[in-house]
Amino acid sequence: MKDETQIKTLCPYCGVGCGLEVVPSQGKGAWQVRGDRAHPSSQGMVCVKGATVAESISKDRLLHPMWRESLEQNFRQISWEEALDKLCDRLQTVLASQGPDGICMYGSGQFVTEDYYTAQKLMKGCLGTNNFDANSRLCMSSAVSGYVQSFGADGPPCCYEDLEQTDCAVIVGSNMAECHPIAFNRLRKYHKKTPHVRLIVVDPRRTQTADAADLHLALRPGTDIDLFNGIAYLLMQWGFEQAAFIQQHTSGYADYAEVVRHYSPDVVSDRCGISISDLETAARWWGKSGRVLSLWSMGLNQSSEGTAKVRSLIDLHLLTGQIGKPGAGPFSLTGQPNAMGGREAGGLSHLLPGYRFVANPQHRAEVEHAWNLPAGQISPNPGRTVWDMIRGLEAGEVGLFWIAATNPAVSLPDLVRVKAALGRSPFTVYQEAYFPTETAEFAHLLLPATQWSEKSGTMTNSERMVTLAKAFQPAPGEARADWEIFCEVGRRLGFAAQFPFQTAAEVHAEFVKLTQGRPCDMSGISHARLEQEGPLQWPLPSGENPESQTQPAKRLYTNLQFPTPDGRARFSASHSRGLAEPPDPDFPLVLTTGRLYGHWHTQTRTGRTEKITQMYPNPFIEIHPRDAEPLGIVEGDVVEVRSRRGWARFPAKVTRAIAPGTVFVPMHWGALWADHAEANALTHPTACPDSKQPELKACAVKLLPIRVE
Ligand code: SF4
Repeated sequence: MKDETQIKTLCPYCGVGCGLEVVPSQGKGAWQVRGDRAHPSSQGMVCVKGATVAESISKDRLLHPMWRESLEQNFRQISWEEALDKLCDRLQTVLASQGPDGICMYGSGQFVTEDYYTAQKLMKGCLGTNNFDANSRLCMSSAVSGYVQSFGADGPPCCYEDLEQTDCAVIVGSNMAECHPIAFNRLRKYHKKTPHVRLIVVDPRRTQTADAADLHLALRPGTDIDLFNGIAYLLMQWGFEQAAFIQQHTSGYADYAEVVRHYSPDVVSDRCGISISDLETAARWWGKSGRVLSLWSMGLNQSSEGTAKVRSLIDLHLLTGQIGKPGAGPFSLTGQPNAMGGREAGGLSHLLPGYRFVANPQHRAEVEHAWNLPAGQISPNPGRTVWDMIRGLEAGEVGLFWIAATNPAVSLPDLVRVKAALGRSPFTVYQEAYFPTETAEFAHLLLPATQWSEKSGTMTNSERMVTLAKAFQPAPGEARADWEIFCEVGRRLGFAAQFPFQTAAEVHAEFVKLTQGRPCDMSGISHARLEQEGPLQWPLPSGENPESQTQPAKRLYTNLQFPTPDGRARFSASHSRGLAEPPDPDFPLVLTTGRLYGHWHTQTRTGRTEKITQMYPNPFIEIHPRDAEPLGIVEGDVVEVRSRRGWARFPAKVTRAIAPGTVFVPMHWGALWADHAEANALTHPTACPDSKQPELKACAVKLLPIRVE
């Protein structure tokens, strides 16, 4: 029987975007959360994070604005009036003394789209700087640049139904079973009951995902492009390339074929550390399957050649015509719950709303017109990425650093350097729902923000499904929605006409107009329609219905027309450059980092959820016995890990789940949760030249066993 008090909403954790139903528990005063069976993406399923989200918002909330003159002082509570005065005074001072580019904002895939949109309007439109970046830079910016370069526009072309319609799923650099568990459940169930379906997992670790695979390719870190080109070599040798598709719908094939001919099985086997027979099996399964779906996340994206890796994987789809049909295509899995909404709203330093680019004069003019701003107001220069913001702090070029809904003092690479830079910031505003966090240590002004259940807004998941999450309980203390704070600051700075919004629905209505006619057209989506009809997938132009669209939204490129000038998808022809910091005699092992099923990023929420902290009480390092034995390391020993940038200590797990020569550490533990167990104290910031996404997945380290008396 339907409970009349139930509220439909969305899980605020990962990019799977599961629907939730929330009901007040009878007489206990706490909310109960369960999966929403009617949500098309998750069909009633929910993982431990979604199931426990209500508990996560009940502890350590930042309730009031807080202020301190210097980092040596304690915070004192101030009013919103005083807080906004201090912030706006400082913004005006920096504008006058350093110009707009002295201001930087670092936002989050935890934002709802309405937060993202108002932040863009404030920073890029009103203040005149493109220095807005988001933690999506660490998560999926290589997927964005890969799609743009290969297809002419961003946007994952697939949908979750493809997980249940494929003949061969290839998961690369993704521990999907732990990190996107509900999407993986759909694939695993289908794989189990459909005998002909092949599941290939490419990962240096034997993860839970790899355990479910028919073929696990435990390649050496950084050799993904060698593998993809090696598969292409065999597909061509065996005649699996689709000549008609290549001729009619792609460009760049001749250059691609010239590159691929260098990747014979013996060369690839040697570089990747996999057997020729496994390589041949992977190529045979890809070639013989009617429908091939590839899925990837951080293992490809977090790389100094992330864009090239993504494109090299897409090349395999172009070679074999595996796109634009059910069960086939390249499918990036987004990490954050609304990283996709950020892409749509222009939430990276080179983007503008509606898949536009700041470097494009026509795009700037369209946005300036829509925002009722003078021509030339939006800077033509891409803004600072988050790492450039850190460099700017080091150089004294940033007069105000505004951080919202993210925790860079744990999540950025090369943390020793990051913390030193944050410590030099003359004025850091930190807009956050929780206190304490590791980043709050470096803030001068704290602004309390609402979050899940306390503010209304939309989020877009990995399959372009937009869900409305409505507020259903009051904000704690004086917390305000992020979009309301951005609007209030805009009004105080003299932009009342640009920020007339009273509700998130009004913000959303203005945003979707800017997507009209763009590849991510969602001008047919509104809060009212989402409330009435439930989640909707884009593209959904104004005036259209999901059922009757000429170009249904489930999959992109079903007509095999790509948004490039010639309508063709582009082969990349990439050679592998390998790791930015390969192992050497001084640092002989490769450290790779990753995530665990129950935890979410820097534990800001999950560290405050008892069930989850009991599941994962401590950090650890996985070491292969072949690497542990010469150092005398046995299970449970504390091991000091050193890189060129820092050190950390972890209890050892000696296991064959990790390949020899590689060690693994989860990235969730910051200084708040454990002493000296920060994975990012070790990692380096070298980034992909196209996507600017850092290589968080690999750095060179050495191990020192610690003798505990
Ligand atoms: Fe939430 Fe992701 Fe778990 Fe779904 S899979 S319940 S979106 S954390």
